[in-house]
Amino acid sequence: MDSNCLFCKILKREIPAQIVYEDAATLAFLDINPVNPGHTLVIPKVHSSDVFEIDEKNWAAVMKTSRVVAHALEKALQTDGINLGMNNRAGAGQVIFHAHVHVMPRFKDDPHSLWPGRPYAEGEFEKTGEKIRAAL
Ligand code: 5GP
Ligand code: ZN
Repeated sequence: MDSNCLFCKILKREIPAQIVYEDAATLAFLDINPVNPGHTLVIPKVHSSDVFEIDEKNWAAVMKTSRVVAHALEKALQTDGINLGMNNRAGAGQVIFHAHVHVMPRFKDDPHSLWPGRPYAEGEFEKTGEKIRAAL
């Protein structure tokens, strides 16, 4: 636990949250500023900042709970689809530095779209693949 961490405070019930699911390793609660009503955050109970820091066991637990929540949102809210998302580090828009997966209900007439794709420059496609393979 990190005493300055907002999500650790939610875990310790020091600040209120609309908790929808809990198990030994994870907690799921409603995001206060949802993409659509039902937008849920899934966190590991052991504090880690992001996908880089979380260990494999807790990551697997977060993924498992995200799937459980996706099924519940579909059933409870008659969603047309679900987006899973995660922001890692400030450069990717992370604001709360306790690892969390967003489980976002989607409806066919909602105002949201996916992030736009853009094509590779000449030669960049193969070079990028090579760089990533070399790093693994
Ligand atoms: P991220 O770090 O992934 O960019 O976003 C953090 C998310 O946490 C945001 O979607 C924001 O609405 C949510 N959030 C921020 N403060 C609180 C809070 O006090 N309670 C809850 N339930 N969600 C919060
Ligand atoms: Zn924390």
